[in-house]
Amino acid sequence: MKQDLEAGKHDKIVTRFPPEPNGYLHIGHAKSIVINFGLADDFNGQTNLRFDDTNPLKEDQEYVDSIKEDVKWLGYDWDELRFASDYFEEMYNKAVLLIKKGKAYVDDLSADEIRQYRGTLTEPGKNSPFRNRSIEENLDLFERMKKGEFKNGEKVLRAKIDMASPNINLRDPVIYRIAHATHHNTGDKWCIYPMYAFAHPLEDAIEGVTHSLCTVEFEDQRPFYDWVIAECETEYKPRQIEFGRLNITNTVMSKRKLKQLVDEKFVDGWDDPRMPTISGLRRRGFTPEAIREFVKETGVSKGSGFVDSAMLDHYVREDLKLKAPRTMGILRPLKVVITNYPEDKVEMLEAENNPENEEMGTRQIPFSREIYIEQEDFMEDPPKKYFRLFPGNEVRLKHAYFIKCEDVIKDENGQIVEIHCTYDPETKSGTGFTGRKVKGTLHWVDAKHAIPAEFRLYEPLILDEDSDGEDDENKTFLDYVNPNSLQIIQGFVEPNMQDVKPQDKFQFFRHGYFNVDPKYSTPDKPVFNLIVSLKSSFKL
Ligand code: ATP
Ligand code: MG
Ligand code: MG
Repeated sequence: MKQDLEAGKHDKIVTRFPPEPNGYLHIGHAKSIVINFGLADDFNGQTNLRFDDTNPLKEDQEYVDSIKEDVKWLGYDWDELRFASDYFEEMYNKAVLLIKKGKAYVDDLSADEIRQYRGTLTEPGKNSPFRNRSIEENLDLFERMKKGEFKNGEKVLRAKIDMASPNINLRDPVIYRIAHATHHNTGDKWCIYPMYAFAHPLEDAIEGVTHSLCTVEFEDQRPFYDWVIAECETEYKPRQIEFGRLNITNTVMSKRKLKQLVDEKFVDGWDDPRMPTISGLRRRGFTPEAIREFVKETGVSKGSGFVDSAMLDHYVREDLKLKAPRTMGILRPLKVVITNYPEDKVEMLEAENNPENEEMGTRQIPFSREIYIEQEDFMEDPPKKYFRLFPGNEVRLKHAYFIKCEDVIKDENGQIVEIHCTYDPETKSGTGFTGRKVKGTLHWVDAKHAIPAEFRLYEPLILDEDSDGEDDENKTFLDYVNPNSLQIIQGFVEPNMQDVKPQDKFQFFRHGYFNVDPKYSTPDKPVFNLIVSLKSSFKL
């Protein structure tokens, strides 16, 4: 881009992000968005959002709307909003131009026959018996295709290039096919539709795109891209440049497969928090900043290796570290009664909202005779080096007092129902007490004032590291769907969480970062999605 500008080839860089509206965007698309919008921004250029909607069968307005929302949410704004289907007339005219130049012909071979005639990597293809139709006959047949005189599959229009080309993409590729189908934008106006490889370069040329950035699987298509631009005599001459696809461990990265997970109800819609879609990541609690930084770090080389999903987690932790208030939530409650604390007393304790960011201030939390702690923070018969609560042991309650376990209360089945402790008023947090030390610090919530909350904990949706499983015989990626990817549990949060709004993010002390679920949260009962735990094995 820099060289092209310096050489005076262009006055301005123009890129496009060209999704097909046949599904929701996923994090792989975020890479394409960051590259296309980001590079154009670097050179004060322009980026169009273009819906590549040349296939009437799989496209839908729902997808168009979600894609717009997701691009904006990621922090980008397009200069022009375009639909490839608005160019059908121009594309048709270019096809007619090719016929007139003797560079395209109508073929009656079936799809299967075309495949057989195409040859292989080691064997050249064979010419179709219809390859030498006259220009007049081709013009007439193509017009009749457009008028709807033929059924689906009866005829196609093919570029006339070279059936012996070492590049199979140049062996007379199909450029128009018949599809009697209603299109979401053009309705029933057309019953012939351009093929992607023919349409894409024309779309770029029509919009004056200077650099058409796409993923590496299109590398072999580049000679045909250039052929279309040259033979169609377009005014603008866009140039295709490829970059490596983003692949992430334990992550399916294909709209077709993601749609299958939705349609077959493995997940609760395209925005299920386990999905790698932009809308799923948003609902899970990932931030645009974290996604952008992650994608930038993966780079723009042509390599398409797998990136560790822990790297994405790393970036969201980094982003939320200073932004998310810290609070206490109990995921699996165990009641503790503080027997020497006055029955009716409630005191308010001060707690800092983020020790790493003083600007976030403090809050007041109630403390009284009964509290909840985590079940895992008590053991009746602990192993060595267990520093939490056990009979006779003393621990610190975060922001409150030291408590000592005096008794364990069980029901008739031997199940623990509550723990009886005593507290020492001398040890109040913030008073500078140094009389003795304890090793464990527990989080807690006041039982009388706590708000019931639901926690949704997630594990990877796909258990296969390289996520497709399709190289394995008799298996598909669906065989690797994790049956335990969602765990729903009921606990408690601090009373000031009453006012949380959808998409608010918090760090629950010792548990991790959580997002208020926009779909299931209610004013009476917030629902928190685990974004990431606090621990990370990932190092940059
Ligand atoms: P899928 O295979 O998931 O359906 P696609 O490539 O068919 O994806 P498009 O809607 O055509 O989806 O994609 C829009 C743009 O996003 C294209 O330029 C495409 O190359 C790019 N893109 C899609 N997946 C990835 C990925 N994993 N990494 C980087 N870019 C991607
Ligand atoms: Mg696709
Ligand atoms: Mg694809």
